[in-house]
Amino acid sequence: QCVMVCPTAALTEAFHCDKVWEAINDPDKYVVVQTAPAIRVALGELFGMEPGTIVTGKMVTALKRMGFDAVFDTNFGADLTIMEEASELIYRLKNNKTLPILTNCCPAWVKFIEHQFPELIHVPSTCKSPHIMLGTIAKTYYAEKKGLDPDNIVVVSVMPCIAKKAEAKRPELTKDEHNNVDIVITTRELGAMIKEAGIEFVKLPDSKFDSPLGEATGASVIFGTAGGVIEAALRTASEWMTGKPLDKVEFEELRGMEGVRRATVKIGDQELKIGIASGLGNARHILEDIRDGKANYHAIEIMACPGGCIAGGGQPYHHGNDEVIKKRREAIYAEDRNKKVRKSHENKEILELYKNYLGEPFGKRAHELLHTHFEERERI
Ligand code: SF4
Repeated sequence: QCVMVCPTAALTEAFHCDKVWEAINDPDKYVVVQTAPAIRVALGELFGMEPGTIVTGKMVTALKRMGFDAVFDTNFGADLTIMEEASELIYRLKNNKTLPILTNCCPAWVKFIEHQFPELIHVPSTCKSPHIMLGTIAKTYYAEKKGLDPDNIVVVSVMPCIAKKAEAKRPELTKDEHNNVDIVITTRELGAMIKEAGIEFVKLPDSKFDSPLGEATGASVIFGTAGGVIEAALRTASEWMTGKPLDKVEFEELRGMEGVRRATVKIGDQELKIGIASGLGNARHILEDIRDGKANYHAIEIMACPGGCIAGGGQPYHHGNDEVIKKRREAIYAEDRNKKVRKSHENKEILELYKNYLGEPFGKRAHELLHTHFEERERI
């Protein structure tokens, strides 16, 4: 899995830009693209912009000019993940089921646990990762809504991550042909494609993501940095558990650049012990403590890349410059602060999706479409 993560750029990705152009140029295909939270705070660097410049609107315009039929936000998938993951956390807490729950959105730690900690295979949340959820919804709900044949839809994910290329090929995610993402490209590949198309990125006006898979909250933006997924989950879980709005949306105690972070979060009269690790060496320490009964967390978040996806292996190279990562991280939190809606369960398009198509969060239909399983694999 080192090959899959490699934020130091000792190894690079297989380029899939040609496949994307081929799909865009095929008149029979309806090609949708989605971009992960961390892309918008790093893509500008490939065009000489300062690290941490937020280029969401320019990125959407570039994707539209490149010829994609619809431009969606993986952050919508992140909000959907939170609806399911917060429900799963509450279910496990109420029913004395396996704790801790481990948030799921990083395919590199999934491989890490499957191979290195098979005895903890029941710990991860069964939620699919956000871009896979969005791919599934694009080929089911969106296809039905727009009267499209799912066979003709091609889903392209732009990710900060090389491991996501392998994730999209996992057999349990591809067994149903309508439940997958077809092509994954990295931030660097997107930058190369924009240049290839002769688009002057810096001069582009802003555009908005397409609806209905384009609305997203501040909670989904912070998925891009370490600690963000668990914070987003707790914003929702907390309000659902207490029935009261949060006095303060931010959980500052979960934020920080340390490789391992521990915090206790009070929800009503319950105290939840939270662990956060970024970097697989740090993840190993947390997982060994859980396996050996030395830690009793309720929930943990692991990100394979130190600092999280902002420092992912598919991002513009930062050559070990922590200042670059710091600026991307500050931009992520600024995006969150700038959003009117900052909790996933208040995303109107998500609520509509449940009302008209999925039913209850963590219910039968949601399980069929949005959850997966993991397998013990040979130790390597
Ligand atoms: Fe990919 Fe993010 Fe995990 Fe790094 S932390 S391997 S970029 S999902």
